[in-house]
Amino acid sequence: MDGSYSPLVTDARTEFEPEPWGDDPQLREVLGEQGAAGFRGLLDGFPEPVGLLWAIREGGEVVDFAFGYGNPAMVSGFRIPAETPDRYTLLEALPRMRGSHAFDAYVDVCDRGEPWVSEVTYDTPFGDGYMLGTFLHRAARIGDGVIVFLHDVTASRRMEAELVAYADVVAHDLSAPLAGIAMLVKVLELRPDEPPAPDVLQELRATSDRARELVDGVLDYARSGELVIETVSLQDVTDAVAADLRPQLAESGGTLVVGDLPEVRADPRQLRRVVQNLVGNALKFRGEAPPRVEIGAERGREEWIVSVSDNGIGIDRENARRIFAMFSRVERRVEGSGIGLAVCRRVVEAHGGRIWVEPAEGGGSAFTFTLPFGD
Ligand code: ADP
Repeated sequence: MDGSYSPLVTDARTEFEPEPWGDDPQLREVLGEQGAAGFRGLLDGFPEPVGLLWAIREGGEVVDFAFGYGNPAMVSGFRIPAETPDRYTLLEALPRMRGSHAFDAYVDVCDRGEPWVSEVTYDTPFGDGYMLGTFLHRAARIGDGVIVFLHDVTASRRMEAELVAYADVVAHDLSAPLAGIAMLVKVLELRPDEPPAPDVLQELRATSDRARELVDGVLDYARSGELVIETVSLQDVTDAVAADLRPQLAESGGTLVVGDLPEVRADPRQLRRVVQNLVGNALKFRGEAPPRVEIGAERGREEWIVSVSDNGIGIDRENARRIFAMFSRVERRVEGSGIGLAVCRRVVEAHGGRIWVEPAEGGGSAFTFTLPFGD
C-alpha cells in the first residue's frame, strides 16, 4: 500500500477535485447492462450519498468489502479520490471499521438479507478536530453486497446535543449566580436599618452581570445562524476588531500581525464576531511571553482559508474538537463561558465553511476557518 496516499481526503486545505468513480462490473453482473445503466441514471443525480459495497468472502464468510458504485454526492461529500475503489478495500480505507457495529451489520445484511437502519458518526482521519458528520445509514442487500443510503443528520444531532448542554448550563452556571444573588439579598434583608456594605453590592453586581452575560451569550448563539450576506473587506473587519480589542492588546503587551486580507462574501456583523472571538481568545489564553496573534488568508480552490494563530498555551489534541461545543471550556483559570467558539462554528457553518484548530508552529494554537467564494 502506498503510505503517502490517503484513501479519504477530508482536510479542507487539500485540493480535491471530485471525479466520478469508474465502472462497476459487479453491478453490471447483478443487474445486467441495461439495469446497471438505469440504476446509475437514477442515482447519479440523487442528492444524498449512495454507495455499493461488495462482499469479499473467505471460506464462505464475509471478511471485508470492496467499494462498488458511489454516486457523486458520496464521492464529493466524503472527498474520496477516484482511485480508492480500485486500490483499497473498505477495511483498508477505514481500519477503524474492523469489528465495529456497522461492519457486523453490513455482514448481516449480506448474509441474511435483513435491511439495517442506524446512525454512524464519521470523524476525519487527520485528527484535525473536526467531525465530518453523523449520517443515518439505510442498508439493504443487493447481489452479494450492500447498498447504503446515507442521510446527513449532523445539524440536528448537534442541535440536540447543544440543547442538552443548554439544560446543563442552566442547571449549573446560571443557578450558581442566582443562588448567590438570593443569598446576598437575604444578608441585606437581615439588616434592614444598615446601608448595604459596598462589597456586598459589588458582589451582587458581579453575579448578576455574570448571569446576564450567560443569557446574552445564549441569545447570540441562537441568532448566529441568521445571515445577511454581502461583499465584506476582511481587512476592515480585522481593523474594527483590533480597535475593539485595543485595551486588551495594550494591557497584555500583545501584537497583532495582519497579512494581506481579501474581500469575502459574508455577513459583516457575524464575521466580526468570529474574528473578535478568535483574537480575543488568543489574547486571553496567552502564555508567559507577550501574545503575538497572526491573521492571514489563503486562496483555496473554492473558498478562502482564514487563519488566526497565536503563541499562547495551546490546546491538546483530545480537546481540539470538544472546545467548539457549546459551554465547553478547558482552561478554567481564565474567565469565560465556553460560548465563543460555539458561536464561531455556527457562524462559519451557516456560511458553508468549516472551522478547526491545530497546534501552531512553535507553540500556541492556529484556528482556521473557510469561507466559500460564493457567487
Ligand atoms: P471561553 O473563552 O468563554 O472559555 P470559548 O468557546 O471561546 O469560550 O473557548 C472554549 C475553550 O477553548 C476555552 O475555555 C479554552 O480552554 C480553549 N481555547 C479557546 N481559544 C484558545 C486559544 N487561542 N488558545 C488556547 N486555548 C483556547
